[in-house]
Amino acid sequence: MSLKSLLATSDDQDVLVSAVESLMREQVGSLLAMNADEWGFPWAVWQILRENGVVCFPFPLEHGGLSGSMVANCLIVSEVARYSANVAMILVSNHLAAVPLLSEGSPEQKEKLLPDIIAGRSLATFAIMELEPEPGGLRTSARKDEGEYILNGAKQLVTNAEGARWLVIFAKELPTSVPGSSSVFLVEQGTPGLSILKREGEIGYHGFSTSGLILEECRIPESNRIGQAGEGVSLHTQITNCSRPLLAALAVGLCQGALDTAVLYAREHKQFGKRVAESESARLKLADMAIAVEAARGLMVRAAAAFDQRSNELTKLGAAAKCFATDTAMRLTIDCAQMLGEAGYLHRFPLERRIRQAKLMQIFEGGNESQRLTVSRALL
Ligand SMILES: Cc1cc2nc3c(=O)[nH]c(=O)nc-3n(C[C@H](O)[C@H](O)[C@H](O)COP(=O)(O)OP(=O)(O)OC[C@H]3O[C@@H](n4cnc5c(N)ncnc54)[C@H](O)[C@@H]3O)c2cc1C
Repeated sequence: MSLKSLLATSDDQDVLVSAVESLMREQVGSLLAMNADEWGFPWAVWQILRENGVVCFPFPLEHGGLSGSMVANCLIVSEVARYSANVAMILVSNHLAAVPLLSEGSPEQKEKLLPDIIAGRSLATFAIMELEPEPGGLRTSARKDEGEYILNGAKQLVTNAEGARWLVIFAKELPTSVPGSSSVFLVEQGTPGLSILKREGEIGYHGFSTSGLILEECRIPESNRIGQAGEGVSLHTQITNCSRPLLAALAVGLCQGALDTAVLYAREHKQFGKRVAESESARLKLADMAIAVEAARGLMVRAAAAFDQRSNELTKLGAAAKCFATDTAMRLTIDCAQMLGEAGYLHRFPLERRIRQAKLMQIFEGGNESQRLTVSRALL
């Protein structure tokens, strides 16, 4: 049975995880090894993931997805990230950008955009962050004019802004009497008035550019607003609810990949005439790391299950999982490099790349300080 059919039909999560792990190891691993720091968009890998149903997996059946649950989706994202957090980030970012469309898109918007996004033929990204937002709201604005919206403003740090065909832009709709209110708009790459800035020079995730963008009298059809006026905050919350378990999954994959490297090293390398694996201190370190990975994975699954069950605990568990898994990824990738000694400092062992990638996970989609505050709000 093909992997795509398996993903579409099997409820056995262990089987799905093992099938995706085999795909990444057997078909993707050698492509990744040719480009250790993953510069340039990974088209060849993307094609393999598309053909095997991994790209469309998280989306509903009615739009051409495989209707995966968030639990299954997180388990799959973590297996992809185990081999390439870069590719996993593209999967996650494309999925998150589609959340407003799936939730509030008009039938026409869904029919026009979703088939290509879900099949991975065209990519989407979302742009919320601004360099200097106004107190309590966004500076980027949208005003109506003769059946169109005119967008003005600037966004910073947009994942894959150059490569995405559709940009999901959050802007305040003018005139507005509600401070902090925003709406969500679809802007197609190439629309006059939209300029993508030079890439930022990120320290990790080199397979796609992260760039700012400028909107100058950028005209889009009025029908390109997603949902109702003022629905931006609620759609942002929906993205956040989805992103927390998924970023935890990315972090779990980074942890597992680092642990895999450390285990292989311990099995194959000798120190002072003995295999590293024979040293009790190395064994204790590996055990602690494995315990940390399983704890992060467990919390990730719990947060993803809360998402699937629409539980009241979703906000707390999602923030806790994002925070714990990403902090664990940061610590564990560094611990693994330390365990390898000088080898941990070499490009040849993919640890330094994972350290750089783990750092973004602690920052992206709300730094871990704000995640902790979210958890505390649920307690108090
Ligand atoms: C590579 C990259 C890609 C990105 N891609 C996208 C994208 O595609 N789309 C998009 O919209 N955005 C994107 N971003 C933006 C990113 O999501 C934000 O920069 C990130 O969420 C940090 O936002 P923040 O509000 O927590 O940080 P800031 O407000 O800048 O906070 C700075 C620091 O203060 C901490 N902090 C914040 N609030 C509190 C508090 N109340 N108490 C204590 N500490 C606090 C934060 O955790 C952080 O450490 C990207 C960023 C990067 C670096």
